[in-house]
Order: sequence, then structure tokens, then C-alpha cells
Amino acid sequence: MDVTLIGTGSPVPIPERGGTSLVIDIADETVLIDCGPKTVYGLMDAGIDMGNIETLFFTHHHMDHNASFFHFAFTSWTEGGRESLTVYGPDGTDSLVDALYDIYGEDIEYRKDIYPTDGISTIDCEHVADGFSRQMDGWDVTALPVEHSIETYAYRFEEHESNSSVVFSGDTRKIQSLSEFAVDADVLVQDCNTAPVDENRVPNPDDHFVWPQHAEGERGLDRSTLTANHCDATDAGEIARDAGAETLVLTHIMPYRDLDAMQRNAESVFDGDVIVAEDGLELTL
Ligand SMILES: [Zn+2]
Ligand SMILES: [Zn+2]
Repeated sequence: MDVTLIGTGSPVPIPERGGTSLVIDIADETVLIDCGPKTVYGLMDAGIDMGNIETLFFTHHHMDHNASFFHFAFTSWTEGGRESLTVYGPDGTDSLVDALYDIYGEDIEYRKDIYPTDGISTIDCEHVADGFSRQMDGWDVTALPVEHSIETYAYRFEEHESNSSVVFSGDTRKIQSLSEFAVDADVLVQDCNTAPVDENRVPNPDDHFVWPQHAEGERGLDRSTLTANHCDATDAGEIARDAGAETLVLTHIMPYRDLDAMQRNAESVFDGDVIVAEDGLELTL
């Protein structure tokens, strides 16, 4: 199984990090999880054939996890030659797919004359709820409700032949059930939104665009709101430790954050490998 972190950023855009998305090559399938801003370009940068992606899971419907859905649905069909698509996700997933047809109905009709496939008109939706699990061809997936500001799921993927497993936390505050869900995972990809700013990572505003409110860290934000909905690196390390995971990947990273401190804080509580994600990071399990 291969895991590629396509987008590792947050809702606050910065050029070097797209919104959340990752790709898992599992058995003979290429599965996309979340489809945040810049996903299509991130797939191209990672050399992934998006026409092969016929399965998409949404953790939740915040903008930083779904904003590229229309772009992906079109491009994987028109340029990639994708022939089908099944979209799994919580409430709101049907509405997103319906919106594709509502908004782009004429556009789709026009392109169907040029691209001779019905990959765009047969998108299936599968509803994810508490207790969701599916046996696929050579792999399994299960979902766990986590605690965020809206309905959100973590996913666990298991490949039969290699006996390998990866868990993606989605966006969540620290909860004990996530450690149990991720037990003995080879890789835990974990929300780590809350982190201190490193002033050295703030670009010079004379040369680069800077979000001034984020260059000052979380001072302007209600910290209780952030910690109620996301993890920090210590939380992430504790979840990985309690799960007995082998490798912890920290993702969902805000602008200008102190990546070294994140690494240290996770390593202070977790003995396994800690990787601070960057867009395009590839892991082979
Ligand atoms: Zn979210
Ligand atoms: Zn998010």
C-alpha cells in the first residue's frame, strides 16, 4: 500500500500547501480521501493518474476538504478518462453531487459530445454513518465518528495481501475512541491544526503575500474553539502512542507554524516515527 499526502494545509491558503487530500494505492485501486483546494494540481504534481480514481471518501464537508470536488469530477473524466465514480461521505455528500449536476448540467451535456464516456453522469453516492464498513476487492474500509464542529469521520484502510493499515483522523479533537480505532496501524495520518507560529517562517511582506492575522499565531483566535475541534502535536502523539501505531504523520498545518516544535512535541510522548507532512509526501507500507 502507498499513501501520498496531496494537500496538507488548513482552510487558510498558502502557496506551498493545498487543502486536505490524500491518495491511497490499495490492492489494485487508487482511492482519494477528501478533495480540498488545489487537489487537482497536487495529483498532477504527485504524478497520479486521476482517471484511475473511481473511489472518493469525504471525512466531512468543510470547504478545506471538498472545494475541489467539481474540478476533480470534471478533470478526471475529461482529461483522465475516468469511467465511474463512487463518492462516500456523511450527510451533505448527496447535495454536493446534486450541485454538480444542477450547476454544470449544460456544461456536462456540451462536453459529452467531446469526451465519449458517461463517467460524469453516473456518480454514485454512498452514505457514511456510525458503524460504516465495506469489504472491497482485496481491502477493507471502516469509519469512526470523531468530534469536530460538524459531522466528521476518521477512516481506516486495511490491505489484505500486505496486512498493512492506514488511519486518517479527519479533523477532530483528541478522543479516546480514535486511539482504539487506530490500534496497531502502520500509519496514522493525524490532524495537527493547533501549533505555535515560527516567526522565521513568516515571509517578508514586501516580497510575498502574508496573512498578518496568522503571522501572529493564535492570539487573535479563540483558542478554546481551536482545541475543541482540532488536535495539537502532543494530542497527536498521545493518540499514536495509545494506538500503538508505527508511524505518525502530522497534517492539516496552518501557515507559518513551528514544524520543529510540532515534531518535538509529538516525539516527547510517542516513540515511533514522526513525520511532519508536506504536500507530495509519499509513504510505502
Ligand atoms: Zn473541518
Ligand atoms: Zn479541515
